[in-house]
Amino acid sequence: MDRARAMKAVEELLAAMGEDVGREGLKDTPRRVADMYEQLLSGMGRTAESELSKTFAVEGGDVVIERGITFSSMCEHHLMPFFGKVTIAYIPDKRVVGLSKLARCVDVYAARLQLQERLTAQIAHAVMDYLSPKGVMVICSAEHTCMTCRGVKKPGSTTVTAVTLGDFPAEKRAEVLALSEK
Ligand code: ZN
Repeated sequence: MDRARAMKAVEELLAAMGEDVGREGLKDTPRRVADMYEQLLSGMGRTAESELSKTFAVEGGDVVIERGITFSSMCEHHLMPFFGKVTIAYIPDKRVVGLSKLARCVDVYAARLQLQERLTAQIAHAVMDYLSPKGVMVICSAEHTCMTCRGVKKPGSTTVTAVTLGDFPAEKRAEVLALSEK
């Protein structure tokens, strides 16, 4: 990120809104906002390959479900946060990954300008590509502040997206969906 340019742009935005950019409360705002974006968008251009490649062998292999992985991301339409929970379920093909790595994977794809649909799909594809399970299902449930703070203003409403890849039997899907809602 071009930090100096981001700071200038924030200053310009404040000025365009009719603000006195020199007043005390706003003096450090351009720097703070630039720092914040740097952190919130730190996943740009990254993949979860290194997180998901450290696998270990297992016998058998029924579905592995990691639910309640919290995340926050940034809606690319409004530059407003959306946040919620992700459930990742996969059917291993002889190899599994450490559970914290699934949470890291979510963070990598959340830390960029996003759409919830794309975030869900990118997580599913990353698990499929780097862990190579038989099948994967990802469910994302999120509240969008661009919906709850502006526009239709419906606090508490959530959007749910789901992506399934590979071989994931219908009865397992139903089981995962039910678990993700608890
Ligand atoms: Zn939005």
